[in-house]
Amino acid sequence: MIKAFENFEVWFVTGAQLLYGGDAVVQVDGHSTEMVAGMNESGILPVKVVYKGTANSSAEVLDVMSRAEADPKCIGVITWMHTFSPAKMWIHGMQKLRKPLLHLHTQFNEEIPWETMDMDFMNLNQSAHGDREFGHILARMRKNHKTVVGYWKDKKTLEHIAVWQRVAAAWADAQDMRILRIGDQMNNVAVTDGDKVEAEMRMGYHVDYVPFSTVLEYFKKIEDSDVDALVAKYNSIYDTSQVLFDDGKQSIWNAAKAELTLRALLVDKKAKGFTTNFDDLGDVDVKVSGMGFDQIPGLASQRLMQEGYGFGAEGDWKSAALYRTVWFMSQGLEGGCSFLEDYTLNFDGERSSILQAHMLEVCPLIADAKPKLEVHYLGIGIRKALTARLVFTSKVGPGVTATVVDMGNRFRLVVNDVECIKSKPLPKLPVASALWIPMPNFEVGAGAWILAGGTHHSCFSYDLTPEYWEDYAEIADIEMLHIDKNTNIADFKKEMKMNEVYYLLGKALK
Ligand code: MN
Repeated sequence: MIKAFENFEVWFVTGAQLLYGGDAVVQVDGHSTEMVAGMNESGILPVKVVYKGTANSSAEVLDVMSRAEADPKCIGVITWMHTFSPAKMWIHGMQKLRKPLLHLHTQFNEEIPWETMDMDFMNLNQSAHGDREFGHILARMRKNHKTVVGYWKDKKTLEHIAVWQRVAAAWADAQDMRILRIGDQMNNVAVTDGDKVEAEMRMGYHVDYVPFSTVLEYFKKIEDSDVDALVAKYNSIYDTSQVLFDDGKQSIWNAAKAELTLRALLVDKKAKGFTTNFDDLGDVDVKVSGMGFDQIPGLASQRLMQEGYGFGAEGDWKSAALYRTVWFMSQGLEGGCSFLEDYTLNFDGERSSILQAHMLEVCPLIADAKPKLEVHYLGIGIRKALTARLVFTSKVGPGVTATVVDMGNRFRLVVNDVECIKSKPLPKLPVASALWIPMPNFEVGAGAWILAGGTHHSCFSYDLTPEYWEDYAEIADIEMLHIDKNTNIADFKKEMKMNEVYYLLGKALK
């Protein structure tokens, strides 16, 4: 069990019926208890599974699903049909359940006991057809869910369940997620904007505006001694040999004060993420009044992202929420994740790549070595000033990046497998960065992403596989377009056209 998920549980409900008599149900119950114990002891599942008994009638199904809905610890339900379980009895319960659902198609015994199997044994161990009956009612109801098929002790089966558990945990986290927008979208930018009402209805998170005057209320209360202590901490964690000049030291001090301000604001507002805007940083005459940030709070954004706060630059609240979800799902995994932006292209034939960076705000979780804390001039936005940032390059290796865009009638999740490659030194560009080739190659990968209307901002992870995003899109009930090694533009365009029809007409069936 992962400590981060210790307050969560997933319920396991076994379908049966009383046709075979009470003794059969007692056996089903015993097998289910043994299976759930084995799954929990596997060391593979990050969230505890709790066995909730057999469901043998419509009333029993409705009762357990109602309790699952009401229990805040329960983040999803796993169902399995040990015997045949006539699926009309699942209709009301499935209508009630809105939390994530996983249908496990497995069987208690691994192999057929060829020598001893009789009709009683076969009637008891008949998930082969019980799970098809159950699958039918989910299909008939157009009920979103994940189907996992395999023997319950197999690592591969358990790993599919583990992925879904992490996504279900992040989904639960998003239903209680508040994102603070410090400033609006960057003027005129389309792709990072969208319908915040629909986002809350569809993906759960809530987005609030925070005027900079509110930020200043927190800024004013920060004690100098606390800023000094944080600067000392920076000096102990990071290589600060570049910032020994006086103005550099002052910039670090200002960055520490910005971090303490944002942290106090986020904690007080019980928020899980925030956005910034380089034109909204406090008093215009900050050098006289001292009331405001000296530049965008780059170092603070980097360090808060590392702790799991969602972040989106230039008012990008969708990326802030998605980054928080990426970080939440990845807890306990080793690779790291970050908010990133497509910045500059490097044409190099089949090795053509995209430099991923931002003005400052890249998460140190993806760094390949200890970051350097540096101070340099940044001439963008309302302030043109020296400012602090962590500088590093990312690890090499495969990863997946994702974004959500608002298509007007639906949200579209765009996912791209990428390969991070080694970057050359960038002595005149002192910001954190990654360099990647989008799959299947730059031409098709970037082309498909652009055709799909994907953002220049995305949320990248070394840990999450496309399966996580499939599960997320299924739970959120949003469109997903996945660009991978098999993508070709002609099929991708057809998929987008088919999806257009589905979201106009197919939704009417639900
Ligand atoms: Mn940006």
